[in-house]
Amino acid sequence: MFENEKREIIKGGIKLDRYGLVSLAGGNLSMRMSTGEILITPSGMIYEEMVEDDVVVMDINRNIIEGTRKPSSDTDGILYIFKERPDIKAIIHTHQPYATAISLIQDEFRADLTTLANSCRGHVKCTPYSSPASLEMGKMTVKYLGESLAVILGHHGVMTVGDSLKQALNAAVYLEECAKGYLAARACGEIRPLTDAQIRQNIEIYKFVGQGKQDIPKELLGEK
Ligand code: 13P
Ligand code: ZN
Repeated sequence: MFENEKREIIKGGIKLDRYGLVSLAGGNLSMRMSTGEILITPSGMIYEEMVEDDVVVMDINRNIIEGTRKPSSDTDGILYIFKERPDIKAIIHTHQPYATAISLIQDEFRADLTTLANSCRGHVKCTPYSSPASLEMGKMTVKYLGESLAVILGHHGVMTVGDSLKQALNAAVYLEECAKGYLAARACGEIRPLTDAQIRQNIEIYKFVGQGKQDIPKELLGEK
């Protein structure tokens, strides 16, 4: 059942490791099927060693449909997010170090880099502390997410969401790239902000980036 999607999840987990967003078995990935089932990675297993049968299939109320592995310890929080936000089809949780570091020193990561506006749709909030594996972790994510595709869980890691696993992965990888640049700049001096209009412009432009998308309207670029 859902073998292709299970493979997509495992490949996504391997990418998290490749891009330095998790170490060993840190973090987790989950996806909602069009028929409502939730696919979620097993608890404490290394992505490279995972096979399709390790991915757990459950319903939104945590009843196991397929799989013998213990599902992610963050399952309660993750199911809460899927319940509260029907628009969300995929959730990625990581311990990416640079973005997580920002939560140790501030409440928000402002979208003063175009890539952050593109990938996460604007500023990314840092939540107060909640325990890993808690329902509270899911509640904090929903509360602080808004229109954004990411939140930084205070003192813990990152949650990204999307209408696909690809979109959630994009948000996680580019958030980390931006966090590296931001922290390097902060160590040297004051940050020069983008204006709200520039941030909005970048969110809009990104909707036209990629294969199968229309050309970027010239007006969005301020050109005729
Ligand atoms: P799981 O392997 O149980 O998903 O735990 C990883 C994690 O990051 C907990 O917050
Ligand atoms: Zn975690």
